Amino acid sequence: MSEVLRQDAQSTDALVIGAGPAGLIIAAALCEQGLTVAGLAPEAPDAPWPNTYGIWVDELEALGMAHLLEHHWRNSVAYFGPEAVALHRDYGLLDKTNFQQYLLDRTQSVLWHQGKAKQAEHLADCSKLTTSNGTVLEARIIVDASGHFPALAQRPQQDSIAYQAAYGIVGKFSKPPVEPGQFVLMDYRAEHLTAEERQQPPTFSYEMDFGEGIHFVEETSLAYAPAISFELLEKRLQRRLAARGIEVCEVQHVERCLFPMNLSLPDFGQAVLGFGGAASMVHPASGYMVGAMLRRAPDLATAIAQTLALPNASPQTIAQAGWQALWNRDRLRKHYLYLFGLEALMNFEEPRLNHHFSTFFQMPQENWRGFLADGLSTPELVQAMVGMFGKAPNDVRWGLMRAVGGNGNLLWQALAA
Ligand SMILES: Cc1cc2nc3c(=O)[nH]c(=O)nc-3n(C[C@H](O)[C@H](O)[C@H](O)COP(=O)(O)OP(=O)(O)OC[C@H]3O[C@@H](n4cnc5c(N)ncnc54)[C@H](O)[C@@H]3O)c2cc1C
Repeated sequence: MSEVLRQDAQSTDALVIGAGPAGLIIAAALCEQGLTVAGLAPEAPDAPWPNTYGIWVDELEALGMAHLLEHHWRNSVAYFGPEAVALHRDYGLLDKTNFQQYLLDRTQSVLWHQGKAKQAEHLADCSKLTTSNGTVLEARIIVDASGHFPALAQRPQQDSIAYQAAYGIVGKFSKPPVEPGQFVLMDYRAEHLTAEERQQPPTFSYEMDFGEGIHFVEETSLAYAPAISFELLEKRLQRRLAARGIEVCEVQHVERCLFPMNLSLPDFGQAVLGFGGAASMVHPASGYMVGAMLRRAPDLATAIAQTLALPNASPQTIAQAGWQALWNRDRLRKHYLYLFGLEALMNFEEPRLNHHFSTFFQMPQENWRGFLADGLSTPELVQAMVGMFGKAPNDVRWGLMRAVGGNGNLLWQALAA
């Protein structure tokens, strides 16, 4: 068997598992460091991605990547009551083909293998990965970017996983669901539901004008455990549209979106690194991750390259340096604070949730922007959260205080991190 291993082995500095956004983003950052990189994915790295990614335009501009947007909305609003709240912040959708090609252009030196990671063995000087068809690939470090439920990266078991779930339609409608050129981040209006339905977990619609008579409307559950079903979301979307006198005339695409929001942090002692969903990088209170991956990949790649340069660095040593770069103390603290926010939101019924978001988006934009993009330091985040508590109506304050009783452990974890 060891002979077979040696014959199949192809050694590189890094082996990236997965060719989704996380895989290509980290592969590009590792190539930028001048490392030799191999990749492993069941599909070709240029196979079209299933999802389209939304992002605030200023986040992409800061990365010099705004040219990768397919849609750009200046008129962004949200509804937490009868009137639209102007967000005064541009939102966009990445052109997924161009985004993927941009990353492929930066990963041209990567040798891609087709297959699925099955298991890995970690030696003193390298890791050996065996694919499901028995091929063995060797690298100084394996970076698992195979999604939220990864092939190799380990995290502690957890009892309850909250999911973001959404059912959306791209198509033509009997009348426009939004104003021309408008983007609706969240429409939590729910007058179309019965009093009994309004006792159930709230959902909102995410809506946008794609131009040329095409719109996207998506009924979304921000997070709930267990996940809200697609059937319920579809029914609610139809009810919402019907109440506004809107009929669906042509369905061009149906999106069914489901991903975990509060997965445990990975085991930082393991000899495999993770990135993207595999490293629990989804923002627990919003579900966004693409901006975070683009911002954090260069630091992770630098930490890997620097540790690789140390004599005799084992996969374990390299992985630990990488986990430390991804999840330093400040970031851990903030993560637990966001998780606390998520747990609180999941227990808010509709009126309280609307009051909460209304207060949240009344904060100075740098605060809510920094909260959503993880761009504040821990003291700034705490200050923003305390400031919001001070301005919130009483029902939100009570809800947050109740959350301290129920999920105060997360606040302690934030302090102890
Ligand atoms: C429908 C949907 C819409 C979303 N919209 C947004 C959004 O608008 N903005 C945002 O920021 N986030 C969004 N997210 C959240 C998050 O950004 C996505 O889930 C994102 O795709 C995660 O990227 P990833 O590369 O970690 O995982 P994935 O995109 O799941 O990619 C995983 C890759 O690993 C490969 N793989 C899996 N198993 C193996 C294996 N054993 N061996 C080798 N390869 C393997 C897969 O084939 C794939 O190539 C959305 C999520 C979903 C589901």
